[in-house]
Amino acid sequence: MQQDGVPESAMVVVAHPDDGEFTVAGTVAKWAKGGCRVTYVVCTDGNAGSHEPGITREELAVIRRTEQRAACATLGVSEVVFLGYDDGQLEPTLDLRRELVRAIRHHKPEIVISSDPTRLFFNGDYINHPDHRAAAQAALDATAPASEMPLLWPEVGAPHRVRQAYVHGNDQANEWVDITETIDLKIAALKQHASQLGDWDPTEMVKEWSAEVGKEKGLAHAESYRVITFQQLPGTD
Ligand SMILES: [Zn+2]
Repeated sequence: MQQDGVPESAMVVVAHPDDGEFTVAGTVAKWAKGGCRVTYVVCTDGNAGSHEPGITREELAVIRRTEQRAACATLGVSEVVFLGYDDGQLEPTLDLRRELVRAIRHHKPEIVISSDPTRLFFNGDYINHPDHRAAAQAALDATAPASEMPLLWPEVGAPHRVRQAYVHGNDQANEWVDITETIDLKIAALKQHASQLGDWDPTEMVKEWSAEVGKEKGLAHAESYRVITFQQLPGTD
């Protein structure tokens, strides 16, 4: 851990291009500015996320990967990994878990950021997308204990122990990250997803969300997490 609580490395696992920007990008931008090496893993190409007549899934996948790379460049993310699953059909399979173990063992993040797989709906007006739940479930299952088990999938890399999981969207948060200085970067990154936003300017809504989260801790803008700190077993480093 570096100064001001900034980790040395982190990995964000999301289902779709734009999920990270709607949820955790203020934290990502803050950590990246503080010297953290951040990797994004995007499970699907978001290639069903369009109502535009005539567009194909292949064309949309290219557009959405390009938008995600631009968003990550805005945030200072070091690398983006696309797993290439189809939008709308993601499941927390062993295959997905193994691919996430591969990414964790390769990039060796100190912290994995995901959303909450148990969250079925929010605020009485939104059912959490099944892809979000699937990606989050697979991310947490890959994080611990799978990534640190030497006999599990040795062909995808040497074991790595993640120190903490940051779970976004849980209603029992125990960590608030002050994003007052990076809220504008979060919004700028979100705006890179032009195919999803159309003419809509998300600024007001995103600021309302982060102000609401920050209120409890006297912060102008915040993102909150349920942080799980994994116990270090005797004899491991
Ligand atoms: Zn999504």
